[in-house]
Amino acid sequence: MVKPDTEKERRLIVNHYRRLLHAWKPNRPEDRALVRKAFNFAAEAHKDMRRKSGEPYIIHPVEVARLVASEIGLGKTSIVCALLHDVVEDTEYTLSDIENLFGKKVAKIIDGLTKIEDIFDKNSSYSIQAENFKKMLLTLSDDVRVILIKLADRLHNMRTLDAMPKHKQLKIASETLMLYAPLAHRFGLYAIKTELEDLSLKYTEPEIYKAITEKLQETAKDRKLFINRFIYPIKKSLSRQNFKYEIFSRNKSAFSIWEKMKRKEIPLEEVYDLFAIRIIIDTEPENEKVDCWKVYSSITDNYRPNIDRLRDWISIPKANGYEALHTTVMSKDGKWVEIQIRSRRMDEIAEKGFAAHWRYKNSSPTETDTNIDRWLKRIRDMLQSNDSESLDFVDEFQGFLFVDEIYVFTPKGELRNLPVNSTVLDFAYAIHSEIGDTCIGAKVNHQLASLNHRLKSGDQVEIITSKKQVPKEEWFKYVVTGRAKTQIKYAIKEEKKKFAGEGEEKFKKYLDQIGVSDPNVVSKRLQEKYNYSSKLALYYDIAKDLIGLKEIKACCAEGSKSGWLSLFTRPFTKSKPEEQKTLSEIVMKEIKQNKSDFLVGDDVHKISYDISSCCNPIPGDDIIGFVQPDEAIIIHRTNCPEAISQMSKYGNRIIKTKWHDKETVGFLTGIRINGIDKQGFINDVVKLITEVHNLNIRSFHLDSEGGIVNSNILLYVYSIQNLNNVIRDLKKIQNVKKVERITAFKSPIK
Ligand code: MN
Repeated sequence: MVKPDTEKERRLIVNHYRRLLHAWKPNRPEDRALVRKAFNFAAEAHKDMRRKSGEPYIIHPVEVARLVASEIGLGKTSIVCALLHDVVEDTEYTLSDIENLFGKKVAKIIDGLTKIEDIFDKNSSYSIQAENFKKMLLTLSDDVRVILIKLADRLHNMRTLDAMPKHKQLKIASETLMLYAPLAHRFGLYAIKTELEDLSLKYTEPEIYKAITEKLQETAKDRKLFINRFIYPIKKSLSRQNFKYEIFSRNKSAFSIWEKMKRKEIPLEEVYDLFAIRIIIDTEPENEKVDCWKVYSSITDNYRPNIDRLRDWISIPKANGYEALHTTVMSKDGKWVEIQIRSRRMDEIAEKGFAAHWRYKNSSPTETDTNIDRWLKRIRDMLQSNDSESLDFVDEFQGFLFVDEIYVFTPKGELRNLPVNSTVLDFAYAIHSEIGDTCIGAKVNHQLASLNHRLKSGDQVEIITSKKQVPKEEWFKYVVTGRAKTQIKYAIKEEKKKFAGEGEEKFKKYLDQIGVSDPNVVSKRLQEKYNYSSKLALYYDIAKDLIGLKEIKACCAEGSKSGWLSLFTRPFTKSKPEEQKTLSEIVMKEIKQNKSDFLVGDDVHKISYDISSCCNPIPGDDIIGFVQPDEAIIIHRTNCPEAISQMSKYGNRIIKTKWHDKETVGFLTGIRINGIDKQGFINDVVKLITEVHNLNIRSFHLDSEGGIVNSNILLYVYSIQNLNNVIRDLKKIQNVKKVERITAFKSPIK
């Protein structure tokens, strides 16, 4: 690691600390000294730590403290706690150290923060359920400040999420959307809520986020022109009435644009130019209601309002304390424009919550503290009251934010989103088609659940599989996702095909026993006689023993009687090799003539076979089999010189051989690699084979001379495709010059 420039870093840290003081603006020297003490302590405790981004760790708590002061408006106790919030979790200091230095109150808040961290952030295998989250927040936080500081902590982590690996980004972002943004909303911290949502979108739906933000930038100029024209008459009218006011436009956040696109199923083009005009008036508290309505009147003098869209949250504020007057009016060019009218006080509360408002009021510090305490108590009461309809977190998460999606977790804490009503089986298919195909049930939050068990947001799901499981028709009733449906259909078809193949072999074996050489004629007659729609259906039933030797015999006897079938014994002979043909042509011809089929890999246990060491065939290669006197079969590649020569001698021992497509057995094969001897060469090669392709290496031989490496690797592959993929990927490694398959490696590799 590069040695950090300590002086430069020291200055960086001091700068961050100054920004904190600037945001907080302490009135009393003793408050300033206390915060300084906390800063020094935290800086010392974290001095050797760095964040994922590489910057000194202490910058994180200082930034969290700054957010606590500037965005939430909390005072010294919370700032001290924010500075210390990771000390107990991440350093050697204990809670009693904190208590000795900063008192009981601070220690208690830190304790709550540490517990939240323990459960949610450190242990990624823990699944967060909205209900548990609420319960936990309440039990851990006797003091609501714990939650507020946690929100600031999360906001800073979201702002610096780029340094995290992709899977963590996704988990953290989704959790933020599911838990922290609604929480911020509940506290009336609108600015934080919006930023959390937008940042979450940026990581969960990067493409959508990019499209929306780019569109907003692209169209900013036009919008500005429109807005200036639109607000001109309103400004004139307000100035005439001597209002002290501020008027500006607010774009809808990227997240709310996306929500609207989803909810109304409309394209970006129809939503992107949504914005609200906000008018903030400076007025005395006793006049604010009347003045807001006066502003409303000035607007409607100029533009026609939509009566259905008038919202009076001044007379009846929202549950989270939001106050404002909203109206939507028609512009001169026929566009609806939303206007929000607020007093300065209402605006501050709306954007930053109550605490911010009290801080900016410039009242005496004690008065500010009392008011903030009152606000905190109010939030706590609000969180605790169970009967209040609007405060049910679970309902809010699912009813308000996740209209059509649920979020569930794997046992490792990875997150998946699925449509509402998704089941255990949908989840299994979402992970991998093979896991879906073999799924027999799951543990949902550690409780056994059936395939058709419906999942809820926050569930942790561990799929249970069995090799014996096969997809069934009734599964279609269990799933809602298209992915699962397609895969089940495919798997059932494959299953039928597999049996049909088995059935066909069986059928041919029966015909051999009877002494019939024309399977097509018999198969056609059987289909007619027993009413089968296709060969596949017939073979499937033969495989399942629903049609057996008895029925086939009867059919053949009928055929022989009525003359459409002649019974004879098929000779197993081979014509003499024709001189004018190439040997491999002869091999191919022989294979075509030979009616009996041998599937390698499928019947491994029934028929013994050996892979010849002269050409080392692997699944996917064209192969033939030679029956040995002891009835074992030796498999060669069709282009193997040894096989060709054997073939010319013992043609009657050849049997047509194909690979079964199931990749079950590993086949030994070899690869030769030439490359430039650079550090990391071996590591890259081994990693690619064992980790990326998940294959076993049997031996690895390496020669290096004059900066050139020659390497022979023996490894187990599943098919020619598998081998070709490995070779293709090996060629992509830097410094690798040549990669080829080794066919013969019986003798020790040089
Ligand atoms: Mn933190």
